[in-house]
Amino acid sequence: MFIILSSVLKADYYDAIVGGGSVSGLLAAREMSSKGLKVLVLEEDHEIGTPEHCGGVVSQKALESLGIIPRLKTIDNEIKSALIRTRNSSFDINSENQRVIVIDRRSFDKELALQAQKNGAEINTRSSIISVRFEESRFKVKIQGGKVFVSKFFVDARGVGTLVNKGKRNIIPSGQFEVYAPWIMKDTIEVIFDSDLYPGFFAWIIPTGEGKGKVGVAGKNINPNLSIEQFLETRGKPYSIVRKIYAPIWISGYVKPFFDGKTVIVGDAAGQTKPTTAGGIYTGGMGGIYAGRAISESVLEGNGSSSLDQYENNWLTRFGSEFDKLLLFRRILERLDNKALDKLFSDISKNTIEKISSTGDFDFHSFALKHFLNTQMSINLMSTLLGNEYRKIVKDLSKI
Ligand SMILES: Cc1cc2nc3c(=O)[nH]c(=O)nc-3n(C[C@H](O)[C@H](O)[C@H](O)COP(=O)(O)OP(=O)(O)OC[C@H]3O[C@@H](n4cnc5c(N)ncnc54)[C@H](O)[C@@H]3O)c2cc1C
Repeated sequence: MFIILSSVLKADYYDAIVGGGSVSGLLAAREMSSKGLKVLVLEEDHEIGTPEHCGGVVSQKALESLGIIPRLKTIDNEIKSALIRTRNSSFDINSENQRVIVIDRRSFDKELALQAQKNGAEINTRSSIISVRFEESRFKVKIQGGKVFVSKFFVDARGVGTLVNKGKRNIIPSGQFEVYAPWIMKDTIEVIFDSDLYPGFFAWIIPTGEGKGKVGVAGKNINPNLSIEQFLETRGKPYSIVRKIYAPIWISGYVKPFFDGKTVIVGDAAGQTKPTTAGGIYTGGMGGIYAGRAISESVLEGNGSSSLDQYENNWLTRFGSEFDKLLLFRRILERLDNKALDKLFSDISKNTIEKISSTGDFDFHSFALKHFLNTQMSINLMSTLLGNEYRKIVKDLSKI
């Protein structure tokens, strides 16, 4: 009897349990299992990558940093330009110096799961975590149905839900429909600013191929379903909606600390999404990688939390200053009404657009935004609109 019980306990004991089997959790699992740690990923959905709640826009460079060369079937499309619109003006930026692609997250996340599995990680779907308790120096992670798993570390990669559970309020509603329509341009992402319709954010069209793509909206206090339906009506028939998802986004910056005792928090759960676009494949994915490496070091070298400090330090060194700048741009954006947006966008010169197209970095776009706002016309407009606050923002920007 004793022998049976102890072997069951051993089987269910892990160096680390990862809650959430999406990009950041799977990358953390891949890193830890590659170092020989015993790792379990628990995912509440019935299938990795599904339901997809992502636009899938990412640069090739970012994927290389994440250690992934996606299979051809995972790449839906390649983007050549972005058309940025306000109500009465628009401009076009080319992604000429960088390859930007649209990936199918259903397939992409399974590729990550396969990488983790090949290293020895176990992944289980339909395993919804209902409680995580730290007792007697170990985590007891209980899933629906009552089964309990035990581990040294717990990695929380459960997405925006973790922030909601922590009482964070500034979650923005968003929705995204997969649409077939002749007005979707195969090579061009469209971004549409309208402070009345999408307060604090924007609407987007991400093409996934000829005549098909993802049409999405996000904005403070909007009804995403109604908002996308209205957007589609303005684009005109014919169009077909073949899939709808609703998912909240977080655009208020990283939420420290990234580890709390022995719980290590990664990805959206740690607010590692860009404050301008809510993009998180790269930034959250790197969170998973840095966390996985730090936990491995801690387990293998037995040096406790000093390795875990490295996770936070590494992530902040790579993205901290960029996120701080993007938050400042967000503060500006949130104060612009449609008239100001029109004026700002119509004033942008051909020179500035060319400069952004040829030197801008998709993954670190504060450079482009800074350039955009630094034209004399924008400075004049912003100073008039925001007064002292703009001067403070510019001062803050020059400091970081
Ligand atoms: C509409 C939309 C469009 C986006 N477009 C882009 C884009 O174009 N490019 C980009 O880079 N980023 C984009 N993002 C952001 C990107 O999708 C996320 O940043 C990224 O998926 C975050 O990965 P994650 O692993 O941290 O969390 P998530 O992808 O949110 O995954 C969390 C996982 O945890 C699981 N989970 C939750 N609770 C439990 C539980 N109790 N037990 C077990 N499992 C649980 C969930 O089922 C989920 O699989 C978009 C987001 C949205 C909402």
